[in-house]
Amino acid sequence: MNIFQTIEKGKNILKKKGIKSYNLDSEILMSQVFQKNRTDIILNPNVELSDIEIINFENLIKQRSKKRPIAYITGKKEFWKYEFTVTEDVLVPRPDTEIIVEQVLKLTKNKSSLKILDIGIGSGCILLSILKEKKCFYGTGIDICKKTLGICKINIKKLNLINRVKLFKSDVDNFNYGKYDLIISNPPYIKTFDLKYLEKDICDYEPKSALDGGIDGLLEIKKIICNSYKFIKKNGVLILEIAFDQTNKVKKILRENGYYIKDVVKDLANKNRCIISIKK
Ligand code: GLN
Repeated sequence: MNIFQTIEKGKNILKKKGIKSYNLDSEILMSQVFQKNRTDIILNPNVELSDIEIINFENLIKQRSKKRPIAYITGKKEFWKYEFTVTEDVLVPRPDTEIIVEQVLKLTKNKSSLKILDIGIGSGCILLSILKEKKCFYGTGIDICKKTLGICKINIKKLNLINRVKLFKSDVDNFNYGKYDLIISNPPYIKTFDLKYLEKDICDYEPKSALDGGIDGLLEIKKIICNSYKFIKKNGVLILEIAFDQTNKVKKILRENGYYIKDVVKDLANKNRCIISIKK
């Protein structure tokens, strides 16, 4: 069988299993077999596959049929301008989260040097993308999971940022190191009860610790805001990713903790996704 025929076969299997992105996914998985990019694959439809290559492809299609996210199957995900290594130990970087990077760049246009803290750094996609744009910014990342920090370290090395990032295994309650101009976080903010209603791709594969925000979804957000006085500078900026229906509650918690709200930014679906506040 050639590349074209095999991709078509893959598409049909994925379509039958209810995978909406079956066209794209089958092509990406074929690219993975050949370790080439998608364009190379599509431009060479008549290349014959060896038996081993067919078995490899079928194995990848089987994983995707069980709703395993493409990013975990291929071990990588594009975010901002870079490709991040990902495993099941980190949340798959979402396009909506690029809003945080955009907002930070907008807010720091005239700043030459800055210290940033990323709480729950995960793959590192937010902090590392910012550091790549701003050569004199320094970052610190914390996460509760050792394996997660291992993946983040791989990304730090890949992006040549070893000299500008420090990592600590810590939760936010016990963290007390340094003072920062800017704090960023995409914390877990899904209500525990709602986790089971997320798409299977998410709830069966992504780390619960990166999604579960407790009974009201606000548990971790509250912890971050309440502990931030320990490490945010006066007039420091706190940028949080939130769920759209948490906007008013998060605003209230921020105000009660000495912040004023600078902006609420919408995501690609035009829903509130990011809240920017400043410490008085
Ligand atoms: N936006 C993510 C989702 O929809 C949730 C991320 C999070 O809880 N931080 O799955």
